[in-house]
Amino acid sequence: MMPLSRLPALIRLLRPPALAALFVLSASLFLPGASRIALAQDRAAAAPKAPLADTRKPVASANAAARAIGEQVREAVEAGVEPKKRLTVVVEGKEKKPAPMPAAEHKAPDHAPATHIAAAPGAIPNPVASRQQAARAKAAALAGHPAPAGAAGGHGAGEVHWNYEGEGGPQAWGQLKPEFNVCAIGKRQSPINIEESVTLRGPAEPIQFEYTPSSASVVNNGHTIQVDVAGDNQITVRGSSYKLLQFHFHHPSEERVNYRSFAMVVHLVHRNPEGQLAVVAVLLDPGEANALINKVWTYMPLDSGDRVRMPAGILNINELLPKDQRYYQFIGSLTTPPCTEGVLWMVLKQPVAISRDQLRLFAQLFPNNARPVQPIHGRAIRDAQ
Ligand SMILES: [Zn+2]
Repeated sequence: MMPLSRLPALIRLLRPPALAALFVLSASLFLPGASRIALAQDRAAAAPKAPLADTRKPVASANAAARAIGEQVREAVEAGVEPKKRLTVVVEGKEKKPAPMPAAEHKAPDHAPATHIAAAPGAIPNPVASRQQAARAKAAALAGHPAPAGAAGGHGAGEVHWNYEGEGGPQAWGQLKPEFNVCAIGKRQSPINIEESVTLRGPAEPIQFEYTPSSASVVNNGHTIQVDVAGDNQITVRGSSYKLLQFHFHHPSEERVNYRSFAMVVHLVHRNPEGQLAVVAVLLDPGEANALINKVWTYMPLDSGDRVRMPAGILNINELLPKDQRYYQFIGSLTTPPCTEGVLWMVLKQPVAISRDQLRLFAQLFPNNARPVQPIHGRAIRDAQ
C-alpha cells in the first residue's frame, strides 16, 4: 500500500501545467491526421509555387506536339505518303521540313521541337495509297479478318481511324463507326484475363492440328504483321474442321493468365465451312530464337500496306506449336474492330520461346498493338486437362 506521506506529491503531479502537457501529448497521439495536415501546409508554404506552374506548361504542350507529329507520321505511313512530302513543321514561326524518318518508325522523335504542325500546301494524295488500301481491303476480305483502318473510307475528311492509342484508341472503337458498336456494348469480347481459380477444370478433347508446309505472304497492315497462308492447314475440334486463313502477332500478348501478360502472342485464325471462326493463341516468352518467326521476320514488309511473298513450301506452322497442347477454351470476339463475337478461342497454356532480338524487331514496328482485357460477364472458361 502507498504510504499516505506520498499522496501530496501525486496531487502535485496532477496540477494544471502537468495536465496541460499530458493533454497535448495525447492529442498528438490520437490525431495524427491533424499533424499531417499541418506538416503538409508547412511544406506547401516552403515550396516555390510559381516556377512549378511555369515549367510544366511548355513540357506538356511539347509532348502534345510530339504526339501530334507521331499521329501525322503514322497517318502518312498508312496512306503510303512519305512523311517528308506531306508534313511541314512550323517552329516559332519559321517553316522547316522535318528530317526524313524511316517509314517504320511510328514514334515521334524525342527531340521533336515542333510547336505547331501544318499540312504542306502542295501535298498531293499519293495514287499508290488508294491502290494499297484496295489491296489491303481485298486481302482482309480473303482472310476473313477485319479490314484495316482506312481501307474503305480513305483518309482525310476528319475521319478517326482505329488504333491502339490516342483518340482512335480501344476506348473509342465502339463510337468510331456504327458497325464497331459491339466493341463497346458486346458481352463476349476478347481478349480476357484467364483466372485459373475460376475455370472449369476437366477432361477435354485435344485440338487436332493438321498443318503442312505451305506457301504464304507476309503483310504489314498497319496494325500488325499478318501471314496469309495458302495451302492445306486445318484444325479439328468440337466435331468441326476449321481451315487456317492467316496468323498474326500482338505485342505484348493480349490475353492474360492470372493477370500475367506475355511478351507476345500469335493468333492463328481458322474458319469452318459454316463461317465460324476459331482462333488458336500461342503465347511467346523470351528465350531461344524461334525458327518459324525467323522465316516470317525475314520477309517482313516494313511499310504499311506492303506484302511480301514467301518462297513456296518454306512455312511449316508445326514449328510454332508447343509440345504440350493443353489449352483454355472460351467464346469471345475478334480483338480488333469490328470486334465480331461468336469466335471460338483456344489459348495454348505452354508458351513458346522467342529471342530478344526477334522481340525487339517487332516491338520497333509495333510498340503496342494489344487491346486491353475485356470483362468476362460470367462466361465459362474451360481449363482443358
Ligand atoms: Zn489477333
